[in-house]
Amino acid sequence: MSFPIDKIRQLFPILHQEVHGKPLIYFDNAATTQKPKAVIDSLNGYYLHDNANIHRGAHALADRSTRYFEDTRVAVQHFINAKESAEIIFTKGTTESINLVAYTFGRKFINQGDEIIISTLEHHSNIVPWQLLCEEKGAILKVIPINDAGEILFEEFEKLLSPKTKLVSVVHASNALGTINPVERMIEAAHAVGAKVLLDGAQSTSHLEIDVQKLDCDFLALSAHKLYGPTGLGVLYGKREILESMPPFQGGGEMIKEVSFEKTTFNDIPFKFEAGTPNIGDVIAFKYALDFIREIGKPQIKEHEDGLLAYANELLLPIKGFIPVGTAAEKVSVLSFNIHGMHPFDVGVMLDARGIAVRTGHHCTQPLMKRLGLEGTVRASFAVYNSKSEIEQLAEGVARIARIKNK
Ligand code: PMP
Repeated sequence: MSFPIDKIRQLFPILHQEVHGKPLIYFDNAATTQKPKAVIDSLNGYYLHDNANIHRGAHALADRSTRYFEDTRVAVQHFINAKESAEIIFTKGTTESINLVAYTFGRKFINQGDEIIISTLEHHSNIVPWQLLCEEKGAILKVIPINDAGEILFEEFEKLLSPKTKLVSVVHASNALGTINPVERMIEAAHAVGAKVLLDGAQSTSHLEIDVQKLDCDFLALSAHKLYGPTGLGVLYGKREILESMPPFQGGGEMIKEVSFEKTTFNDIPFKFEAGTPNIGDVIAFKYALDFIREIGKPQIKEHEDGLLAYANELLLPIKGFIPVGTAAEKVSVLSFNIHGMHPFDVGVMLDARGIAVRTGHHCTQPLMKRLGLEGTVRASFAVYNSKSEIEQLAEGVARIARIKNK
């Protein structure tokens, strides 16, 4: 059966508009994906019919909201194949999920002289929290180098591992280049020296099948807004025994069992890490995004997106002045590039004039850009609703722009 692209596009009202008099072509999916109508309807429906605070209410609306909220937790559990829904913690996003681990696991288990390993490919949100922690604790941050294609050097990673390594925190798929890291092998090697592993799944979770039990990662961070869900919402997955061993993140309502002025006891996981009123409406709507992905099927989505990336490479690589950035063998559907003689931002503005939305700049990966000797790139990132004809228009736009400086 061919991929039902027209049917899928119908589910995204935002795609059917013009910008600068041209049909919108949305290729900024690594920054955030658009939302299917079911997600938008759920947000509306929640505030029209169900709005109530959860877990404590004795009335019908509170009961309903609590049930829907907890249904999403179970949907996330199934989405990443966690053992139990208690291992799913709702956060504001990948950034907060990583900070939560740094603040709680890090503060308790990482001490002076201990080592944390990240990679050159990391987003700032998987660099800065560890720098802050290392500074506070006198721990050491080590960085896995990459080759020019944007792939980590596995042997160098192995050399960095030692009994001093307490945590390996790596991106599963790079937002700047699309590189998919060999995380199965990395997790195995890290566990062999007794280190825990956190995967930054901000980019991988929308493209790849994720099975946290099979991967055996200790933590996984993701953002709902990159998965066709609402902004301001993310997830931290953690193995039960590790989450239970960690102190709470923030103090407040919901995360406690009993409070007295002398002593407070904490709630069980996941509530121990969810202080205060959560992002209820967005959590409830997120389930509809996960249903959308499940109904199409991750392997089908991956095949479609791989096809788009291959087609983009076929059309763009021959263009004079086109410089691909990040040519890893294993990639998600991210096409990073430059045009010889042009600043990435100018290319972005010229594509925007053609209705094509891309991202330009360092993509919150300044150390990676420095390693590649670049100020930034133009990034076109493809999602389930993008089509081959949109890729053709990108190629046509890039060819015209490149001709300005590459006659
Ligand atoms: N890691 C990666 C690889 C990302 O692409 C992003 C978002 N650009 C983040 C972390 C941070 O995600 P958020 O802004 O949703 O917290």
